[in-house]
Amino acid sequence: MIPCSNCKKQEAVTRLAYSRTDLCGNCFCSLFEERVRQANKRYRMLRLNQKIAVGVSGGKDSAAMLYVLSKLVRNVHGAELIPIAIDEGIKGYRNESLEKARELCEKLGMELRVRSFSDEYGKGMDDIIEIRDGKASQATVQGASFRPQPSCSYCGVMRRQSLNKAALGEGADVLAVGHNADDVAQTFLMNLFRSEPQRFGETGAATTKKEGFVPRIRPLIFNLERECALYCELGGLPYYRGGCPYAHESFRGEVKDFLNELEERHPGTKFNLLQSCLSLEEKLGPEKWETLDEIQVHARKAGKCISCGQNSWNEKCRACEMLEELA
Ligand code: SF4
Ligand code: ZN
Ligand code: ZN
Repeated sequence: MIPCSNCKKQEAVTRLAYSRTDLCGNCFCSLFEERVRQANKRYRMLRLNQKIAVGVSGGKDSAAMLYVLSKLVRNVHGAELIPIAIDEGIKGYRNESLEKARELCEKLGMELRVRSFSDEYGKGMDDIIEIRDGKASQATVQGASFRPQPSCSYCGVMRRQSLNKAALGEGADVLAVGHNADDVAQTFLMNLFRSEPQRFGETGAATTKKEGFVPRIRPLIFNLERECALYCELGGLPYYRGGCPYAHESFRGEVKDFLNELEERHPGTKFNLLQSCLSLEEKLGPEKWETLDEIQVHARKAGKCISCGQNSWNEKCRACEMLEELA
């Protein structure tokens, strides 16, 4: 038996290679929750009388987040959690994961709000991919110019917009999203690889307030993805274990594999990357953006999309542009 490095009494259930510690279930769960508390304290995420929309998907990250937040808000006077799920319309995946989200909300005595792509855009992801593939093969035959996007590009843009709209509709002050340390490290690298420094202010623990957009908080930023899964397992939280059938198309998937390999060989890589991201954001926060010409665009106020009326940085929002390309 390997004893827990912390309490020295219980048997360890996991090894944290980056800190060379072995932890029992109790000590691991305490550490996990303490990290969420630290994120909350450092970035002042939860405030008195706040309405907190929580993006849930039925997956491990949002399940762990909703559960820990439900414990933390007990000590925040007047704070209220509003779980919101977006149904992207991916058969055999999202319908099943939403069942888990419902199960968890029931267990916690919360009402889950569900918005779907079909309601918002008249079509779900399965329809969008069918149209995309049809248009792509037609374009090849006819020599037409159509640039098909990876599934996650359509999905990401529309889900962000749908979640924001739903959170605004609920009158939420903030929107909690289940991005963990892996997600943030991946996004940070992706922004570097794509040369998109203007996104740096948007990847860290919290986004700043912008008119028409509910600020996002990331309470799981100090926990790794595998730790979210373990926390759910140990706590007996219902979560969906399968994956999205379109995930293989994403650039993020490649970055994820790359980072996992690095972490395996050099434990601590992900947290180091996260730290770099947070330090850089502190130095290059939105209030300093105005000094950089190429990213001045973010100092502008958001307007309304001329097509759908949603808040948008450009004349037409990205979701409308994408849907028009598919029309
Ligand atoms: Fe959407 Fe891509 Fe996530 Fe699937 S993997 S749910 S397509 S963002
Ligand atoms: Zn212990
Ligand atoms: Zn629009």
